[in-house]
Amino acid sequence: MPIGQAEISARFTDRFGHFPNWIVRAPGRVNLIGEHTDYNDGFVLPMAIDRAVWIALRPRDDRIVSVYSIDYDETGEFSLDALQRQQAGWIEYLKGTAWSLQEAGHRLTGWDGVLAGDVPLGAGLSSSAALEMAAARALAATGELPWEPAEMAKLGQRAENQWVGVNCGIMDQLISAAGRAGNALLIDCRSLQTEPVPLPRGTSVVVLDTSTRRGLVDSAYNERRRQCEEAARLLDVHALRDATIERLERSAGKMDPAVLRRARHVIAENDRTLLAADAMRRGDAVELGRLMHQSHRSLRDDYEVSSDALNAMVECASVHRSCFGARMTGAGFGGCAVALVRAEATDDFVRDTAAAYQRKTGHSPAVYVCQAADGAEVM
Ligand code: ADP
Ligand code: MG
Repeated sequence: MPIGQAEISARFTDRFGHFPNWIVRAPGRVNLIGEHTDYNDGFVLPMAIDRAVWIALRPRDDRIVSVYSIDYDETGEFSLDALQRQQAGWIEYLKGTAWSLQEAGHRLTGWDGVLAGDVPLGAGLSSSAALEMAAARALAATGELPWEPAEMAKLGQRAENQWVGVNCGIMDQLISAAGRAGNALLIDCRSLQTEPVPLPRGTSVVVLDTSTRRGLVDSAYNERRRQCEEAARLLDVHALRDATIERLERSAGKMDPAVLRRARHVIAENDRTLLAADAMRRGDAVELGRLMHQSHRSLRDDYEVSSDALNAMVECASVHRSCFGARMTGAGFGGCAVALVRAEATDDFVRDTAAAYQRKTGHSPAVYVCQAADGAEVM
């Protein structure tokens, strides 16, 4: 269901009999390039998308946060004085965000809210980070806290890592907090510095969900992280972000071949991400597409986190005449690909690519044509 300011406001008013005091939104995201570089202190280049989690809210006099979820048709509630972790559930993302804000010394107050979103759940567009950043925005509004995007992103990440128990990097929360309409954000995952870079004119970004999910992601992810740490140790650098391809080649002889391939992906992907940002500053869609294509090959052959379905989707997209480039996006083993497409041919591209993918794999894909949106905001 598409959701927006008017809809969430109307649902709040139905429920409480007056207009909300605040409406907040925080977007999902797609990463254009820079995959598996975040935990190597490297660079990523995501954009916030025009799908978001929305909360309409009013303050309360006590320390209770009470939220009605339209999408789940249920109310979740907790006291800011007695935060207790329960088994998985959507309210845990709000509770975890309140927990990490309080741990950081912020004084919070209670509120009643109505929550809804149109970021598809578990599709790799990071609905969880959108929910955390919407929760942070709501808590910041009611608690009269200053909105520091990088600070709030770190607290959202902490909620996801330590409260929800998902080991994610900083990218998802930071792009949801700090995105800029019409731009992607070059993020330095070491310094957390961000720089908006414009999407090339006349292009659109299309997310292609393979409709496949894989359960092995966690163990493969942990193995990749270990291999990256090992490579950094052998290269005598703090993180792979500090290594160069030349240095890697000099040390190749003493490395396990799999560790060598993992390091080659990360080092080259960091270079590609910086080159992609350059290409975007010049408005060069062809070069950006070429780099996306190289990124996919590297993720497939060196990092080995692609899948048959992702490879099939990327092939179906890449052969289309209006496609500048396509790659898997996200952790891998299933989930989504992202394609950069000539804007005027977007409808053709979507129709042809979806049909080709379905013929090739038997899976029916979900497709999201995305605009680059602003980060979390109070409306
Ligand atoms: P994703 O890849 O979308 O981040 P996750 O499994 O990390 O997938 O997060 C999805 C979870 O986030 C959902 O199961 C739900 O608990 C919560 N969530 C996301 N969007 C909403 C929403 N609109 N309303 C309630 N909960 C949501
Ligand atoms: Mg998530």
